[in-house]
Amino acid sequence: MNDLDDLYQEMILGHARQPRNFGALAPCDRSAKGHNPLCGDRVTVYLRMDGERVREIQFDGAGCAICTASASLMTDGVKGLARPAIERVFQDVHELATGKSDGSKDLGKLAVFSGVSAFPMRVKCATLPWHTLLAALDSTSAPVTTE
Ligand code: ZN
Repeated sequence: MNDLDDLYQEMILGHARQPRNFGALAPCDRSAKGHNPLCGDRVTVYLRMDGERVREIQFDGAGCAICTASASLMTDGVKGLARPAIERVFQDVHELATGKSDGSKDLGKLAVFSGVSAFPMRVKCATLPWHTLLAALDSTSAPVTTE
């Protein structure tokens, strides 16, 4: 777990240990499963919609600390948003995680993922929940993979 030493360790591990919005949402309107074979992360995202907006979102699965923390922070961050806004937030998070952000955007708690950019192997752990969320919004039934 040395990778995590400089990765806003406390916050990520806190979310990994006690993830928000963890557990299957039943009934749910949409769901999708994601898998990151590089690390072994598996995540399922469950949505209850209010028109085009996400009203409730929960996730479950078994992932590493970064994947679980990312899913936890994501579910806290996208409630009430519709797909275009979610895609914008994901793009900002992805830029942070890949070190392409100029740091001008205020992402609140999601800013912790700037620490991931030092560990390219871990970027897919952080982005898997987001890819899975977008798949759930599309109601794709095929499993998502980062490969
Ligand atoms: Zn992982």
